[in-house]
Formats: sequence, structure tokens, C-alpha cells
Amino acid sequence: MKYTSTRQPSPALGLSAALAAGLAADGGLYVPQSIPIFSPEDFADCRDLPTIAARLLTPFFADDALATELPAICTQAFTFPAPVRALATPHDHVLELFHGPTAAFKDFGARFLAASMQRLHRTQSKPLTILVATSGDTGAAVAAAFSGLPGFRVAILYPDGRVSPRQAHQLGCFGGNVRALRVDGSFDDCQRLVKQALVDTQLRAQTPLGSANSISLGRLLPQMAYYAQASLEHWRRKNTSLHFIIPTGNLGNAVACVLARACGLPIGRIALATNANRVLPDFFAGADYAPQPSIATLANAMDVGAPSNFERLTWLYPDTAHLRHEFISRSIDDATIRATIRERHTRYGEVFCPHTATAIHLLECLRAEHALAPDEECTVAATAHPAKFESIVEPLIGAAVAVPHSLATLLARPAQADPLENDYAALCRTVLSD
Ligand SMILES: *Cc1c(COP(=O)(O)O)cnc(C)c1O
Repeated sequence: MKYTSTRQPSPALGLSAALAAGLAADGGLYVPQSIPIFSPEDFADCRDLPTIAARLLTPFFADDALATELPAICTQAFTFPAPVRALATPHDHVLELFHGPTAAFKDFGARFLAASMQRLHRTQSKPLTILVATSGDTGAAVAAAFSGLPGFRVAILYPDGRVSPRQAHQLGCFGGNVRALRVDGSFDDCQRLVKQALVDTQLRAQTPLGSANSISLGRLLPQMAYYAQASLEHWRRKNTSLHFIIPTGNLGNAVACVLARACGLPIGRIALATNANRVLPDFFAGADYAPQPSIATLANAMDVGAPSNFERLTWLYPDTAHLRHEFISRSIDDATIRATIRERHTRYGEVFCPHTATAIHLLECLRAEHALAPDEECTVAATAHPAKFESIVEPLIGAAVAVPHSLATLLARPAQADPLENDYAALCRTVLSD
């Protein structure tokens, strides 16, 4: 399989080269040159996530140096399950994506990317520094995935004082080859510093740098696997396609679902729930696509004003009318997020993180509007464990949220972050120092 940019058709790269490059030279995103087509029967002998992932990703890895390593990469990355659980309301389910080390779905992509890059970087003598800007979840998942991996260092930049105490602790608790840098600035400042470093050829000549943001194919491709598994299980039971509702920010998780559907997996409708950042719902309602500065909300991992994977959506659906017709998208405000968390707990004893709550609310709307037939099943992607956002969730439900074991292990470690001035020269000094 070759990969081309969403902007210019050439030059096409193999998977390894596209992974190493991150963003294409013309500023576009890498997409596969063709879409492999499967039928559910192709997965007849596949049940667990590593096996389904390896089968699904085989054509995406074809003709690449990593092809023979794919089964090992999948085994190394998919070490925790993505179970589907029934909700109290009939025919409603959640796909729990939060059983990884940092209790959010980003663990799947980050671990797969790390396992792939480890094999690509094997012959290099100098350590590769992965630079990440984070508003919380991404940095922790990437740090966990690369922590202790020989040949890699990680530098995480986060806005000092603007992540939750538990998120800050998670970012700072790895130590070793992971360095947490608390930047005197906003998330946008962190992102600007990282972007500047990644295009700085002089800096990159002195020390190898890599990125791990949500546009990386190494994060996008593996995320198809859990949608494949959930839809195939449903197909075997019911012989129908499964609908998904996905809490959305940069569209990385959702585009993986869309791509899995394009590959022939039995996935029905895909609905995108956003928080008050409403660029996508406005676009789907007929407005021009108009990126905005992001607004801070309770679902902070979705505080995105310019969804970075949008170009992959328009690549899959070049006709705007068709694209608009294919998706449902709604914006859910903070008051509704709060009400949803409170109500689902009072009525059903269910507890959701603020991100998942946006999609739960959209599900409730679609049911109330009879947009889904009463016996049609629908699954919400539960993107993080509520214990990660305890300062929001616990006051609303009036109870403590039990912390999952993996998260508790991280929180029990000491944490340490170094201050970083909001200044590019300061970042360069830090990256070049040991
Ligand atoms: C990152 C994140 C999202 C948004 O995912 P995208 O791929 O950016 O759309 C949603 N929920 C949680 C908990 C996240 O960490």
C-alpha cells in the first residue's frame, strides 16, 4: 500500500516513510492510495482484538518493511480489551475504550504507534525525541506508550495550571525517558512551540525529532480495530450493521470508524457529538467549514476549533452534499453535559466521563426523535474512564468514582514537571540538553 497526501497526489510513500514523516510535505495528511474491501466472512476465524487488527491492517502494511512485523506489533499494542456493555436503556450500548494504562481511547493508537516506531528506529544510534503538545489525554497516552522504550525520549508540553491535578500528575509520573514540561502559556502556545521544532531542519540535524499527534497514521489505523470487533460481534448475533455515536474533537477516533466502514465492516450510521466547539455541527448543518479558536469546556480533550482530521473526511467524501448527508453531528453544551452525567446516574446508576456524556446525550436525542427504529441497536464510544475527570463527575453524582487499577498505579507514583518558558529558544535548549 502506498500513501498520498490529501492535498497533492504525489509523491506516494510507503507506510514506514509516511509514519516517519507525520505530516506530508505539502501540509496535507497521509491517506491510503486505495481502500481495501473486506466482508464480515473474512473475519470468521478472528475474535480477539490483536487478531482482528492484524487481519484488517494487513493490506495497509502490504509491501512495507513493517509488514512481517504486523502481528507482533498488534500483540504488543492491544494488551487490553474494548468490551461492549449494555446500557440500562434498551438496545443502547457503550464500547468501553478506557481499559488501557491511561484510561482513555488514545492508549490504543499511542501503543500501536510506539510499537511501530520502535521497529522502524531500531537501527538508529541517536535517541529519537517524541515531542507532544497536550491539553491532557494525548500526552499521558504517548508518555505511557514510549515510557522505558530504548532509543526514545518523550518531551510533553502542557499549559501550566490548565490541566486537572490528576491529569498533571499523570503527565509527570513517568520519569526516566519521559520529561513533562509545564509551559507558561496556553495549549495553543504549546502546540505552536512543538510545530516550530518539528519543521526546524537545523534543530532536527542536531537531534532526531518525531511527532505523535492525532494525524499520525500510526494512531489512526489501529483505531479501526475496535470498531471492527464491535460491529462484527453484532453482525454475528443480528446480521445487521451497528450504529455508532462518537465524542469528537480532532476527528481521529471518528475517521477511524468511517474508514472501517469504507473497508466493508458492518457499520451503520455514524453520529458525531461535539462539545460547545461547534465547527463540525455547523458545517453538517450547511455552513461553510470555518475553523474557530477553541472554547474551554468540561470535555476538555474535545476542545478543538480546527479538527485536524477534517481533510481525511473530505478525502473520503469529496462531494460536500454527500458528506453532509452521511453524518449526524450535534453540539452539546456544558449544562447538558452536567445534566446528562447527573441524570444517568440518578436514573440508572451509570457513570460517564464528560466526553462520553456528549455522545450519550446525542443518543437520547436520536431515540426521542425516532431517528433510530426502536429495535435498532446503537453503540456510544466511551472514550475515557470517569475517574480521570473526578473533579467534574464526583460533585454531580454525589459519590466517589472508583479508580481503575492501571490509573491508580500511575497516581501512586511521585510526579515531577519542569517549568518551560513560553519561548522557542528555551524549548530548543531543553530538547538539546540531556
Ligand atoms: C481525545 C479525546 C476525544 C476526542 O477524540 P478525537 O480523536 O480528537 O476526535 C474524546 N474523548 C476523550 C476522552 C479524548 O481523550
